[in-house]
Parts: sequence; structure tokens; C-alpha cells
Amino acid sequence: MPRNISDEAGPRRVEVSLPGRGYDILIGRSLLTSSYPRISGLLRSEKVFIVCDENVQEPHAATLINHWKSEGLETELLVMPAGERTKDVRHLSEIWDKLTAGRYGRDAALVALGGGVIGDLAGFAAATYLRGIDLIQVPTSLLAMVDSSVGGKTGINHAAGKNLIGAFWQPKVVLIDVDVLSTLPGEEYISALAEVIKYGVIYDSAFFDWTEAHVDSLRRGEESAITQAVARSCEIKADVVSKDERESGVREILNFGHTVGHAIENVSGYGELKHGEAIAIGMVAESHLATTARPGWTEEQHDRLVKVIASAGLPVWLPRPIAAGELLNAAKSDKKARRGAIRYVLPHRFGKVETSPIEDGEVLRSLLEIGASER
Ligand code: NAD
Repeated sequence: MPRNISDEAGPRRVEVSLPGRGYDILIGRSLLTSSYPRISGLLRSEKVFIVCDENVQEPHAATLINHWKSEGLETELLVMPAGERTKDVRHLSEIWDKLTAGRYGRDAALVALGGGVIGDLAGFAAATYLRGIDLIQVPTSLLAMVDSSVGGKTGINHAAGKNLIGAFWQPKVVLIDVDVLSTLPGEEYISALAEVIKYGVIYDSAFFDWTEAHVDSLRRGEESAITQAVARSCEIKADVVSKDERESGVREILNFGHTVGHAIENVSGYGELKHGEAIAIGMVAESHLATTARPGWTEEQHDRLVKVIASAGLPVWLPRPIAAGELLNAAKSDKKARRGAIRYVLPHRFGKVETSPIEDGEVLRSLLEIGASER
């Protein structure tokens, strides 16, 4: 998908500042064939263990391995099935088994090469094997580039719910080679634009303006627009995470659109909508809620946001009517609801959100605005 624009200046660097656990995110082109000098100083052993999924094995894992091998680094590759179901204890255990069989020590480094599923799963394996070994995130989906590879949340799913088992484990470095997006399916790419749009709303009005102005280039997957969007998204996530690593405060602003979005995913069944599509519709509902609950957020601002979401190729409306009450109940049973009261992250103006509980009646009215039915 990225267009050919030379990257002679080298990768862009975004710093995640955390006491004793800070790291760099490197964003650029051809990093899979040029990254070694940038990571060699971080490696404490001559062998690395790489986990990827079957969709990125060829060509990306092969490219990375060829490059590292040519630099004298030994590698072992474990290929996992693609898909959310891989994020479970059985596949986690498979990684542990390979690590123990290969006698990897405390100085080992584990490389997570893939989308958010591999990043979360292999990240959690790194967090737990020998009480924690070094982790290198090499995200290959746009969602993993702008969101899941940054911030240190790792984990697996449980029968009782998504992401219920996990740990905070920061990587040593994140390598983002935007060239790998050329093989990413179009719907996965578009879906992740919802998170890019979110960052402008929650944190940076100038970035929202930029996204609005470049939405067509982003939708078409133009390389310079993608690199800019990934870099600014990473900067914003890095900034938020640096202020609140463990989500005890400011980090919850990242959940704009996610309370309703998760409820939509829950009720419609995972699979009917892509995650980013559900978040896009969730942002529309929560933005509508803000027009009634927040004096600063006007209908005009709401309309601007809805237009950018739609122009990115994302839905702004439920694909079929779902009862508003059912969505509300699903939101209430989400793990982030505290003592039954749901806290919504609502825009106050572009670049500024605030979190507060909202009356059920108001929420129900906003759900009707995204096509939910009264019963
Ligand atoms: P994913 O890892 O399943 O990737 C989506 C699909 O794209 C998969 O089929 C994958 O094989 C394929 N793919 C990835 N990169 C590719 C490439 N370059 N070329 C071809 N195919 C490619 O899903 P995702 O959307 O990347 O991530 C979703 C996961 O991330 C969820 O499990 C979610 O819970 C998690 N997540 C974690 C965080 C966090 O902070 N840790 C944040 C958001 C989401």
C-alpha cells in the first residue's frame, strides 16, 4: 500500500519516557532490511527468538531473518496460526515450551513480529518466561503500529472475556517498517484508521485538522501520509503512557469510542465488524452523547468528526439495528465499568476529552443516533 517516497533521512524516532524502562519507537521504510545496527546494542545474547503468524511469515519474517543472519545474529522462528483465537493459553504455552527447549536464558530477546494478536501473546510470553526477558516489538498491522505495540500492555484472552489475563511489559524497542503494510488486507488497514482519528480528538486538535485534510491520502494508503499518521499517533500514545503507565488515570482517555465500541462488538458477536469499525461507530455515539452532556462540544464539531470517519471509509452507523438496551447492558458489564456506573470519555473540544458517568437515558438516546432500535 505505501507509495514510493525515498526515506534517505532515516527512520523517525519517538521516545517513550518511563523511569528505567524508556525505549525508542523507530518509524521508517526498509527497517526489516536495515534494523540490525539500530538494535544490536540492545541485544544481550547472540540468538533471538521470533514469533510471527502465518500471514507475515512470507515475506516479512523471511526478510527480517535474512537480514539479521547476514549480520551474524542467530534466529529461531515460531509461526502461529493467524487470528484472535491464537491469543490463548495453549499458544502461550507453546512459546514457553520452545523457549525452555531452546534453553533460552535471562539474557534472551523475544521478537514479536505481527499484528496485535502476536504482539500481545508473544509480549506476555516475554513478560512471564524466567520472570521476564527482553522484548522487541515489530508491528506489521496498522493497528499494532499506532496502538498495541506501544505502551506495554500484553496478554491473552480467557473464556470469560478478552484480554483478562496479562501483564504490563515494556519492549526494549519498537521497529515500525511501514513497507510491510503493502501486504496488509485493505479492510484491516482502514479499520485501524479509527484509532488514528481518535488521537486527534482526544489529544491534539492540530493532528485532527491534519487528519481531516489528509483523509483521502490516508484512505488511499499514501506512504508519506501513513508515516506521518503513525509517527504522530505513536507520539501521542507514548506521551499518554509516560504520564500513566498502568491506566490509573489519564491513560483512560485512550478509551474514547471504546465503551460503546466494545458493547457493539459484544452484542453483534466478534467477527461481524472489525474492531476499528466498532470503535468508529462507538466514537459517533459517544460524540453525540457529548453534544448533550458537554457544553463545549457542538453539533458542528460532531458533524466534522462524523465526516472524517466516513471519509476514511469507516462506518458511522450500525450494520443492522440492535436494541439500545442490549448495548447499554453490554457496556455496563464491560470490565472498565466501575461499581455499575459507566465512565464515558467525552470530547470537550478537539484535543480535549473529559471522563464522567452519564445517565442511562442520555446514553440510550445517543445509541438511537447510530441506528440502534428502541427494543
Ligand atoms: P491481528 O494481529 O489479528 O492482525 C490482523 C490480521 O492481519 C491477521 O490476519 C494478521 O495475520 C494480518 N496481518 C498483520 N500484519 C500483516 C501484514 N503486514 N501483511 C499481511 N497480513 C498481516 O489483529 P490486529 O488488528 O493487528 O490487533 C488486534 C489485537 O490487538 C486484539 O487482540 C486486541 O485485543 C489487541 N490490542 C492490544 C492493545 C494493547 O495495548 N496491547 C491495543 C489494541 C488492541
